[in-house]
Amino acid sequence: MGIRIDGKAIAAAVRADVKSEVQALKEQGIFPGMAVVIVGDDPASRIYVNNKKKACAEVGIYSEEFALPASTTQEELIRLVHELNARKDIHGILVQSPLPVGLDEKAVVENIDPKKDVDAFHAINVGHIMIGDYHFLPCTPAGVIEMLERSGIAIEGKECVVLGRSNIVGKPMAMLLLHHNGTVTLCHSRTRNLPEITRRADILVAAIGKAKFVTADMVKPGAVVIDVGMDRDENGKLCGDVDYQAVEPVASYITPVPGGVGPMTIAMLMKNAVSAAKLQNGLPV
Ligand code: NAP
Repeated sequence: MGIRIDGKAIAAAVRADVKSEVQALKEQGIFPGMAVVIVGDDPASRIYVNNKKKACAEVGIYSEEFALPASTTQEELIRLVHELNARKDIHGILVQSPLPVGLDEKAVVENIDPKKDVDAFHAINVGHIMIGDYHFLPCTPAGVIEMLERSGIAIEGKECVVLGRSNIVGKPMAMLLLHHNGTVTLCHSRTRNLPEITRRADILVAAIGKAKFVTADMVKPGAVVIDVGMDRDENGKLCGDVDYQAVEPVASYITPVPGGVGPMTIAMLMKNAVSAAKLQNGLPV
């Protein structure tokens, strides 16, 4: 029987730590501030933005929302990013994705000051992560590492298999596991003999966006299984990339969906906001 890793509880512990750090910064006259930019009226984006603002309020970070119409041009959006780059009271800039069709997300990210790039998507921050010398880590993979650490699961020397190679999850996840001295295999849609590879994993991270894709026969008995997926099952219910019911008896530790990796992402974003405020005030991060 796998031990269920409680992402909600771990995320709450991370937010509590962040809250004390914010308090300590305020005592030094530093008031961390975050700009949250949303363009258009995508309902899922609205929920994410509200959750981010709520998390900021909970840990004491000042947040300001910029809600722009879907008709916003690339120039207008980049102008706003430049204004936010110049503001001393704003330390982190978040541009909620996806942007409406016609807006170039990559160009927008590249215009964010890397010191304010709390999502860690800017090429400069990606480069820093690659060489292992970084201030910000992308929130979801960083959340996975935090969960492993706080659950007492060592990474060093372990066979780590990551399913999915996106720029926001799979690739940085593999890099972070490598920095923690795991032996990492990164799989994707062209990988051959996938079950053979996943069965080697001591730590298996699934981030492919396919409901219940990872079945019990793909998991080595005693493996740690981390499910990043946020999918819908045949009844439209939220589920992960892992068939939890089937895999849980085989795994040593497993994250549920919901209540696993999901809550960690916003908690790590708050951590990045604090790092950004420190960085911009010449404090060690
Ligand atoms: P993505 O950009 O769609 O990337 C999916 C990756 O999975 C791609 O690299 C793709 O391979 C690979 N893949 C697809 N089908 C596969 C298969 N049958 N076998 C092996 N690999 C396969 O997705 P993403 O943004 O990384 O997100 C992945 C999942 O995580 C989604 O469910 C998303 O909702 C969730 N997510 C959750 C959080 C959170 O906070 N919990 C945050 C971000 C994402 P190719 O590169 O070859 O196409």
